[in-house]
Amino acid sequence: MFANLSDRLTASFKQLRGKGRLSEADIDATVSEIRRALLEADVALPVVRAFTANVRERAKSAEVSAALNPAQQVIKIVNAELVEILGGEARDLRFAKHPPTVIMLAGLQGAGKTTLAGKLGLWLKEQGHTPLLVASDLQRPNAVTQLQVVGERAGVPVWAPEPGNGVGDPVAVARSGVEHAREKQYSVVVVDTAGRLGVDAEMMQQAVDIRDATDPDEILFVLDAMIGQDAVTTANAFAEGVGFSGVVLSKLDGDARGGAALSVRGVTGKPVLFASTGEKLTDFERFHADRMASRILDMGDILTLIEQAEKTFDAAQAEEMAAKLAGDGDFTLQDFLAQLAQLKKMGSMKKMLGMLPGMGQMREQLENFDEREVDRVEAIVHSMTPAERANPKILNGSRRLRIAKGSGTTVAEVNSLMERFEQAKTMMKQMARSGGRGMPGMGMM
Ligand code: GDP
Repeated sequence: MFANLSDRLTASFKQLRGKGRLSEADIDATVSEIRRALLEADVALPVVRAFTANVRERAKSAEVSAALNPAQQVIKIVNAELVEILGGEARDLRFAKHPPTVIMLAGLQGAGKTTLAGKLGLWLKEQGHTPLLVASDLQRPNAVTQLQVVGERAGVPVWAPEPGNGVGDPVAVARSGVEHAREKQYSVVVVDTAGRLGVDAEMMQQAVDIRDATDPDEILFVLDAMIGQDAVTTANAFAEGVGFSGVVLSKLDGDARGGAALSVRGVTGKPVLFASTGEKLTDFERFHADRMASRILDMGDILTLIEQAEKTFDAAQAEEMAAKLAGDGDFTLQDFLAQLAQLKKMGSMKKMLGMLPGMGQMREQLENFDEREVDRVEAIVHSMTPAERANPKILNGSRRLRIAKGSGTTVAEVNSLMERFEQAKTMMKQMARSGGRGMPGMGMM
């Protein structure tokens, strides 16, 4: 899911690589790329409009950031907007003051309601509740058996139609199920209902009747994330027909384009509470907008890194460096030391490396980074004469030997430092040309 959307969004950020600042034209170009990406992913048009307008607005009013380069800035904004349209903070299930809590499931046939009943049953049980599943889907011939199978797997009892429970009458089964739960002190009742292949007046009426008979605390609309464009129409039909208080997205493990998932909250105004990600009972989780957003952006922990960079970046120092490099100034060993110290401040290098996508050559160099390296580099640089620091070209063999001895290192270590220093110098020059902002080593993003 979201693979295409992720690729398209990532591509739109790449266009910003190497830009020094966000110009109006850059923002417009990026926003129209994002717009195309969302439309291609089947996101509903009103949602796309609101999304792109907000991103544009925020990008234009974004303050020039010392810590983040333009691509990182836009990623941050898009991420925040994704979290927003996905519904922000997750809401908890609402439980009744006086049990049993009644949770009614609604949705088209094949949406995943029966499977969800089992998943929800197991999840509720794990949360310390005593759930009862009620088989009010009498439309599909084997729906009751199917619920009994998942109920057994989840270790959760099932109330099914039997003489006395209302054979053939889904409303009577639902009502007697809730009564049974109250008598036997089950704390939560999950009512599985019948769907149809498409929205249908008779089905909707039945859902309304079951709703009125059981007075549910939650009506969860189960939406198959694979159905694309139709999702919005279906969601609206259920919102107007029976109404619902929350959404469960099912089949998020599929390879659909993901538009349904991104649209449903914006279109119905109802929160997504759970996500279903497979056929197994455990393929089920609370829905977290922020996690979903970073999955869509597919950037690993790059967002965490962006946050961290913002926190620890020394703006004054960076500006000084940028000004120096932009002019005729040179990147000196002293600056190199300062850079290393800056990186070290950001916490474990190794951990950071895991967060950086596509660092290529840089990654290789840093993979062997030892936190004590900064100390060694410092010792080496301090063992140099001012003339050597200013002009490392004069470092011949005997000078290197003297420095190694003075710093308690080896000539090989001195050589290696000088080599890395030259590479860093080249990199810093490149960064300076792109405006000098952004974390060192994050020039790729
Ligand atoms: P219902 O008609 O709404 O009760 O839908 P079902 O629960 O019978 O689900 C329809 C089909 O979708 C079944 O084959 C399920 O195994 C499958 N299914 C349900 N949820 C998921 C999910 O999250 N991921 C995948 N891949 N399949 C699912």
